[in-house]
Amino acid sequence: MILDVKQLSHSYGDKEALNNLNFSIKDNSIVSVLGPSGCGKTTLIRIIAGLEHIQSGEIFLDKLLVANKSLNLPPEQRPISYVFQDFALFPHMTVFENISFAAGSKANKKQLIEQVIHLAKVNNFLDKYPHSLSGGEQQRVALARSIAVQPKLLLLDEPFSDLDINLKREIIDDTLHLINSLESSAIVVTHNAEEAMFLSDTIIVMNKGIIVQIGTPHEIYFNPTNLYVASLFGETNIFQSKVIDHSCITPLGRIKVKNLPNNQNVDVVIRPEAIKLNLEKSPLLNPNSGIVVDSKFLGNSAIIHMTVNDEKNNKHHIHSKVMGNFLPPQASSVSVTLDEDHIFIFPR
Ligand code: ATP
Repeated sequence: MILDVKQLSHSYGDKEALNNLNFSIKDNSIVSVLGPSGCGKTTLIRIIAGLEHIQSGEIFLDKLLVANKSLNLPPEQRPISYVFQDFALFPHMTVFENISFAAGSKANKKQLIEQVIHLAKVNNFLDKYPHSLSGGEQQRVALARSIAVQPKLLLLDEPFSDLDINLKREIIDDTLHLINSLESSAIVVTHNAEEAMFLSDTIIVMNKGIIVQIGTPHEIYFNPTNLYVASLFGETNIFQSKVIDHSCITPLGRIKVKNLPNNQNVDVVIRPEAIKLNLEKSPLLNPNSGIVVDSKFLGNSAIIHMTVNDEKNNKHHIHSKVMGNFLPPQASSVSVTLDEDHIFIFPR
């Protein structure tokens, strides 16, 4: 294990930022810490880095205890490096000097710098100073510099958040290659679930200072442990219902329920992609049908806004995500079938 975090809690005054975190990170892996603003992501990274004094719990890096109540190894003595949102490049040094400084006096320094420059694609602006670089270029230099330290663990705190979408994809892709080719491990902080899925082997989902779920992107997406995790991947349709006869009624029809007792109140999460639509010639008189309010073309996919009536004739506004070439006109009738892989039922 490159990192073990044990019983880590942290408060600012009487504000609890982290509550009893426990997790490990395997060698050569990329882990995302995913959660909303204020859930404690940066606090966690700063404690692992040694920038924030630990209050309770233990941190082991490469099996070596680096922090507990009576020990706090300074950042420069830990086998880590970090990139924060503001990059923090040395303003008085050129790009080359920034990278060279980070490489220190390593025996293989020349070769290492050449490799890092090549991998981070910073060849074209080696003589420039940070203030004359674009955001994307500064990002690359910050990554190059953090890699030149040859860390066992790289900590990236929302490093991509200021970049435009195309540049972001390109730099995320290059960062992945960089980390993999140097056989480092990395923790990437993000509040974007898609970014977390794309980047990492494992996702740690946090909310309000606690770890809500740890798993592979596939596990988190298809087996979310609660309503919060299920709602992380874009918008959802959520209905309140009750288990009766191993199923529950929703405005989109009856859904089978496993492992929950009769009379249990539940929240039913139906992802837009669970709702498959079929154009009908005339309105259908059953709950598994709707009237289209609007169809929004998004390229590969389309979002269909529609209303459905429940059993008591109350109207519900529903979003369905379908293939981009299916764009039913306003006021048309559609029948609904549901893909249970994208439906989650939680006790309420
Ligand atoms: P963001 O995504 O907005 O950066 P985060 O998930 O990284 O948020 P933290 O920055 O770790 O969250 O903050 C966790 C909680 O601790 C928040 O409620 C925050 O207001 C509080 N907090 C963080 N730093 C301090 C500080 N130095 N003093 C007091 N409270 C703090």
